Amino acid sequence: MYVNAIWQVPSVRMMRLLATLSVILTLGASCGGGGEVVPAPPAPPAPQRPAFDAGRAFADLEAQVAFGPRVPGSDAHERCEQFLRQRLAEAGARVVTHDFRSATALSDTEYDFTNVLGVFAEDAPGDVLLLGAHWDSRAKADEDPDPALRDRPVPGANDGASGVAVLLEIARAFQTSEPPRPVIIALFDAEDQGGTSPMPYAGWIIGSRTLVAEWPNDVPWPDEMILVDLVGGDEEHNPRVGTPGLSNDVFDLKMEQRSLQAAPDLVDRIWTIAERRGHEGFERTVGHAITDDHVPFIEAGVPAVDIIEFVPPEWHTVDDTPEHCSANSLEQVGDTLLEFIYGE
Ligand SMILES: [Zn+2]
Repeated sequence: MYVNAIWQVPSVRMMRLLATLSVILTLGASCGGGGEVVPAPPAPPAPQRPAFDAGRAFADLEAQVAFGPRVPGSDAHERCEQFLRQRLAEAGARVVTHDFRSATALSDTEYDFTNVLGVFAEDAPGDVLLLGAHWDSRAKADEDPDPALRDRPVPGANDGASGVAVLLEIARAFQTSEPPRPVIIALFDAEDQGGTSPMPYAGWIIGSRTLVAEWPNDVPWPDEMILVDLVGGDEEHNPRVGTPGLSNDVFDLKMEQRSLQAAPDLVDRIWTIAERRGHEGFERTVGHAITDDHVPFIEAGVPAVDIIEFVPPEWHTVDDTPEHCSANSLEQVGDTLLEFIYGE
């Protein structure tokens, strides 16, 4: 994904929105207790909320990285696709694949790409939720501080594998207890092969754009969408910590600007849950505007939110490896999503 420079400065409207949100939260916190309580009618039993197993999620992050960089046309890419289909099927999903061919901004060669979807609880009542992450890894580490390494592929532990790992663990949770609403897990290919190119969005987010344009007939269209990307950052030192313009060594998830503009209520619901659960990585501050896989859904009218740390120090370098990732970061995001699905 990349940053859209024209939205770097938070608008007055957004800052007002954030101020309003914090006032509402403050008022809410001071209104507890007292008053007449009218007994509510008995509610149907809520589905049991499964726990998020961060150790298992981290093992899936490592398993993806162990294939090698999942760059277009590679054996690692093909083997990882099989792995994703198998993991979703094992969790009880109806697996739908969406194949397409495309050149990229990094290569004139046309490659085969596959978006992998798992459909859960499709007969449940309620709005359809789409949870997304990209599974490809970038073919060039062009942000590496060492120019000699910039033609190498990115291992993609945080950039790719972390979001997928969170969603595969959530899929296993669905197997323990069926979600109370229909959920689609969408693993997008060809997100991270962009650059400077005349292609739409300079060649970024090809997989999600193509999926939205060619949406499969047998998959319900989502009512809302949550994307997770770069959600495995650690708090360890790393060669690029301290570089101007990058995050420091603390895992922080600011509110992405396109999400705030398109789906402010959904952003607030997610951040409120994270705050209630004590997940300190979620910050109620305005972050960058990022072109990521949520954008094609926003443009198609779906309220969509990108949960993303931008820019972690290892982003698009050869140091994007499991030792610079943390199970605790996966836990903060995965637990928030499970609470969003089962607890709201
Ligand atoms: Zn990337």
